[in-house]
Parts: sequence; structure tokens; C-alpha cells
Amino acid sequence: MPEPKTFRMPKINYYVRKHFRTKILVLDLDDTIMPWPRNMPLKNGKHLNLNAYVSNVFAKIASEVLGLDRDEAYELCSSGYFNYGSAIIGLLETPDYDVTEEQAHEIFMRVHQQTATNPSKGVVAWAKPNFKLYYLLSQFKTVPYIITHGSTPYAKIALQCMGLLNTVVPEENVFGLELYGYYNTKNKPNPYIWFQQKTGIPFNRMVMSEDSHKNLFFAKALGIKTVLLHREGEQGEPFPNYDYVDHTHQKLEDYLQMFLDKGVNYTEEKLERSLEELVSENAPYGAYYQNYIIDNAISA
Ligand SMILES: [Mg+2]
Repeated sequence: MPEPKTFRMPKINYYVRKHFRTKILVLDLDDTIMPWPRNMPLKNGKHLNLNAYVSNVFAKIASEVLGLDRDEAYELCSSGYFNYGSAIIGLLETPDYDVTEEQAHEIFMRVHQQTATNPSKGVVAWAKPNFKLYYLLSQFKTVPYIITHGSTPYAKIALQCMGLLNTVVPEENVFGLELYGYYNTKNKPNPYIWFQQKTGIPFNRMVMSEDSHKNLFFAKALGIKTVLLHREGEQGEPFPNYDYVDHTHQKLEDYLQMFLDKGVNYTEEKLERSLEELVSENAPYGAYYQNYIIDNAISA
């Protein structure tokens, strides 16, 4: 049988594509750009667990809007999160109450407003400027986009606290769940298709970074390059092997640094070493050999 022919892109095409069709970063917000505090000391001696805080705010506001008992609202929210991966979908789907879309929208927006702006426990109280992220994102030729399950105003407040809004992330590039629909969480293809149609960016030019691997399955299926990151507290642990994840890194900063240093197609297995690495690896062989490597690399 004849050998199957493989197509290899001519090098000049490769460089033209690399220059004119640069990748576009699409970033999740919570636990990707902004690490959530899970055990942060507060002034009153207690600790802030943001997951628990958000659940309480959700229960309080849901009980106000729907006229329910607080405990009942808390149960409703947590069962929604458990059954649908989203408290809002849980509210809309529950057979026990007739929750309208307007009510769900009001709850969603108010919960995020409060978790962003509460002066002692909200994002404004603990989100700090991230100079490294600012510096890395400012090195990119293209501006990033944000797709979050939070509300758009919440995401903008968070990015502003971190010094990233309208410096490296234009505010019109921030998309909250209320824009692409409460049922369209990122564990479905819908938000990616919505985003593609809104921006006109081809899927194969996007790179999606996330802390939740479930949100990357359909991204990968659509042709987006996928990056899985660790949440704070998981850092240092190995990653499970998901075949829909292209890159794994401890933090977003690590991925961005790798992208800037080595390009988008770099992986640990297909390592092509940089000139500096080759030189330092061969340092024991002395200056003559180093110069030999450098000469060869330049003439290659
Ligand atoms: Mg996240």
C-alpha cells in the first residue's frame, strides 16, 4: 500500500498566518483571571469563603424577590446548583414555584451587584491589582475577551479592581451570562456559538482559558484551543488527562508567559527547545560547543 500523503503547510504561509491571523484570547473570569478567596481572614476575626457568601446572598435576595422563607430559598438555590450546575436554571426549572424570567433576571443581577460592591465581603474589598497579568496581556497583539457566568457589571467591577478594565481588556469585550442567556452556560455549545456570531472571530483563532474542565468540552468540539487552569488551593496538583484540553497550567499567568515565549502550539510532549535552553543544557561541554550550537541555529 502506498504511504498516505501528508500535507505540510509551506513555511511562508505559516509565517503569514502567524502574523495576520493571530490567536484571540477568550478568558473566563472567576478563578481564571480573579482567584476567589476560600479562606480569607476578615477584620472581625472570621474568614471569608466566597462560595458560602454568594450562596447566602443568593438565598437572601431570592427570598425577597419570590417572597419565600430564607431557608427555603437557600434549599432551592443549592438544589438548582446541584441539579443543573446553575442556581438560576434551578429557579426557572423548579416545579414548586412559578419563577418568571424577569424575577430570575432581577435575582441574578442583584446577587452579582451585591457580591461585587459589598464593602466588607464583596469583590471591591479583596480584589487587588494584578500587575503581572496587566503586563502579560499588554504584550499580546490582540485584545482579550471575557465570557463569564457572572453578570457583565460584576465582571467589569472585578476587572477594574484588578487594573485590567480599559487598560488591557476593553469594556465592550466583557460578556456576562445575562447577555447570552441563563440557560446557555459554557458546558453547552451555545455561548461559544453566540460569541462567534457576535464577533465574527473564527473558532480556530480562539484560545479559551478556564478553571472548569466541563466548560471546555464544547469549546474543543467547535475547534477552539483549550487551556485548563488550577484554582487557588489546587495549585501544584497534577491534572487529570482530558482529551479535550490542549494545555494545562497552574495559573493563567503561566499560560500567557508560555504563549508569549513559545507560541500557541507548544506542549510539554512536543517540546522544541529554545536556543537559550539548548545552550544552557550544553554548558558542561564548554564555550566551543555553545558557539557551535549558536552558529548552527543561526544558519538553520
Ligand atoms: Mg471560573
